[in-house]
Amino acid sequence: MHTMFNPKQIALPPAIGRLAELSCNLWYSWNESALALFARIDPKRWDQVQHNPVRLLTEAEPDRLQDLAQDEDFLRHYEEVLSSWEAYRKEPSWFERNYPQHTGNVIAYFSAEFGFHESLPIYSGGLGVLAGDHCKSASDLGLPLVGVGLLYKRGYFTQKIDEHGSQRAEALSYDFAKLPIFPAYLIPPPSGDGEPAEPRELFVDVPLADRQVQVKVWQVQVGRIPVYLLDADLETNSQWDRELTAQLYGGNQDTRIAQEVLLGVGGVRVLRALGLATGAYHINEGHAAFLTLERIREQLDKGLRFHVALEVIRSSTVFTTHTPVPAGHDAFPLQMLEYYFSGLVTSYSQHKQDFLRLGLDVRKQLFNMTYLALNTAAIRNGVSKLHGQVSRDMFREFHGGIDVQEVPIGHVTNGVHLPTWLAPELKELYSRFLPGTWKSNQANADAWKSIGLIPAESLWSVHMELKERMVKIARANLREQRRRNSLPAERIEEVRDYLDPKKLTIGFARRFATYKRANLIFSDLSRLDRLINDPNRPVQFIFAGKAHPADQPGQELIREIYRVSQQDRFRGKIVLLENYDMNLARCLVQGVDVWLNNPRRPYEASGTSGQKAALNGVINFSVLDGWWEEGYDGSNGWAIEGRNEADWESQERENTESIYRVLEQEIVPVYYNQGALPSQWVARMKRSIQTLAPLFNTDRMVMDYVNAAYVPSLKRTQKFVANNYEEATKVADYKRFILDNWHRVKITEVNDNGARSTGSAGEALKEVNATVRFGPVWFKDVAVELIYYKEQEEGWHQVIVEMEPLRHLDDNTVVYRTAVPAHLKHGSYFSLRVHPVSANFARRFELPLVTTW
Ligand SMILES: *Cc1c(COP(=O)(O)O)cnc(C)c1O
Repeated sequence: MHTMFNPKQIALPPAIGRLAELSCNLWYSWNESALALFARIDPKRWDQVQHNPVRLLTEAEPDRLQDLAQDEDFLRHYEEVLSSWEAYRKEPSWFERNYPQHTGNVIAYFSAEFGFHESLPIYSGGLGVLAGDHCKSASDLGLPLVGVGLLYKRGYFTQKIDEHGSQRAEALSYDFAKLPIFPAYLIPPPSGDGEPAEPRELFVDVPLADRQVQVKVWQVQVGRIPVYLLDADLETNSQWDRELTAQLYGGNQDTRIAQEVLLGVGGVRVLRALGLATGAYHINEGHAAFLTLERIREQLDKGLRFHVALEVIRSSTVFTTHTPVPAGHDAFPLQMLEYYFSGLVTSYSQHKQDFLRLGLDVRKQLFNMTYLALNTAAIRNGVSKLHGQVSRDMFREFHGGIDVQEVPIGHVTNGVHLPTWLAPELKELYSRFLPGTWKSNQANADAWKSIGLIPAESLWSVHMELKERMVKIARANLREQRRRNSLPAERIEEVRDYLDPKKLTIGFARRFATYKRANLIFSDLSRLDRLINDPNRPVQFIFAGKAHPADQPGQELIREIYRVSQQDRFRGKIVLLENYDMNLARCLVQGVDVWLNNPRRPYEASGTSGQKAALNGVINFSVLDGWWEEGYDGSNGWAIEGRNEADWESQERENTESIYRVLEQEIVPVYYNQGALPSQWVARMKRSIQTLAPLFNTDRMVMDYVNAAYVPSLKRTQKFVANNYEEATKVADYKRFILDNWHRVKITEVNDNGARSTGSAGEALKEVNATVRFGPVWFKDVAVELIYYKEQEEGWHQVIVEMEPLRHLDDNTVVYRTAVPAHLKHGSYFSLRVHPVSANFARRFELPLVTTW
């Protein structure tokens, strides 16, 4: 017998009682049959309550629910949803199959925002949606992952656009009783007489400056994954403290640091209170990096020395950076850090400098959250190949100026959760032609080959259906704007003729941050006019997005788009929709023809909206930045050209010219090529789906994190803590010794006049010898390498040759040798370097030390 899970105590007729359980699991957000089931209860109300099933059920008329409990059709649908839910929960998972030895570990994923669905507004944009999609794929793949975040009473904000095109930010106050969340419960062990104890709601104290802030812990269930959200809005807290979880990215520096303390320090305390065996911690952007300070404190409390504690923490921490601009990283004055961590600083006053050094930006004398994360995470990554490079460049100095390619920051390219973003109609169509396992095999390119089998007419007709639906929703959005702004009746009514599903439709929707340059297409309005008003081949544009309430230039962009959209020549052909959220995002990425993205390169770390579009056969037209630099192959979309190394103004000019030219000469002609069925266009849609869907989904992304970050962290941590931290102590002491003595390691002589020989490929070689004096350092703890460059088809390519010890001299000096192509000369053609190595490092250059010659 299934025990009824009804944490919200929603009153329902027994025949449909498990709707309560379904309403409290975000699994509904990627299961269209579950969504359709809720919608059936009251379709109109469903849209009004932002597709929030808890609100729908708690506010439904009891009579209506009674009727449904006797409606056979509804009951059949209900049973069908329940059985797919049961099947989903029991599915043997990818993780269990591949890592059975790690199913008992817990991976904690910390993020300041999570975007699961429009019904739970605790996200602002791409970062949150990525975190939400990460959890969903973690559930699909069966990872033992838990999320940790904050629960914002007023969410982000609801955007209204007034009759002047100004953004109005409305802060709604959410009633947690009506959100799809519930209090996290602690089930205490049975009492002495065997009586089961009553579950208790979970509260945790977080030390903040001179006080303890109490937080209540809420739970969002995301399929199989629990996400714990902290809420400080409790009567026991001061008014200022209660406001800490009021708003996402609101307030000043003090609010921000205090929020981050709640997230990082509070989050760790929640995991402890729940008794979870957390073995790896993922910091999703610097906001959550304080979790490492709390974990170091725990180790100090156990009696570990600071540098050993740091190694233990580092071995189990993964950090993902998302911001390619130095100014985008949170940094706080040192006094502010001391103040908010006064408890920690007082208890461990002898380590105050050690703690501060972990985040210290020496030049600015600020405590930088990204530095903290880099210093405390063994595994670090950017979110696209290009962003990995940009990050290595940006943090080269931070790593002691080692060669940029050696900076130990890798990349895991972002993706999107396929079942969330792919239109149900397309899921059905793909299922008819792709192998039966395509969804669970989505990261396998072979599974997508059969996209080619879909008849062009079928793909096109589903696309047109989605486009028509999108146009209806866009008109309703505009109508509501105008009605609210009290425009005259005829101005409201004319919206009926806005946008034409037959026209080539270009979508641009994302946060209105200035680097995204939403107004680029307006640089030459006459040229735009000719494109839009071409009598035979017209084009139309849809814009949407929020600007941060403190971002005035971002809001000016919105006004500019609004003003252009109001010009007679563009009326109904350029539209600006309000309140961009996941609902509107879904509708646009499924319904337009082209997804335009023209950020200033390389400011778009990855971008994900274009990936959502690609899944749905919407073709990307984008600057080669972020993920598109990897995704674009010349035939699966279009690139906006411009010299990367040019200054901003030139880049802007070149990008703009490219946008117009590609639209005029390629996109428009291909779209309008053949009457009712643009077969060339559909062929490109297919190319786009086939080549991009298998790469840019979160199943692939989460598997990458598991293979390259989580499992190595779990393994390394187990090794580090075994035998009373033996390995961690060894590594910590080793690092300290090397750091203290590295200045004594010297290359004293290099000789390249050695013996000539012939290599295996018949090439002429010569021997190079190098003499290295090690001082107190053991020669086996050091790699001696020769580096030269070799010309290949793609350009010059670095070759690193490890040199071998040839003989030992007195005074701990060793002569090394290797053979290199005979034409190389020292200085201009090859160089030598020595750097410390250890089998216990998570990566080369874990110690940023290198001596060259
Ligand atoms: C996907 C998504 C984003 C991210 O869009 P980018 O264009 O990649 O910045 C932002 N907001 C919402 C609501 C989204 O769904």
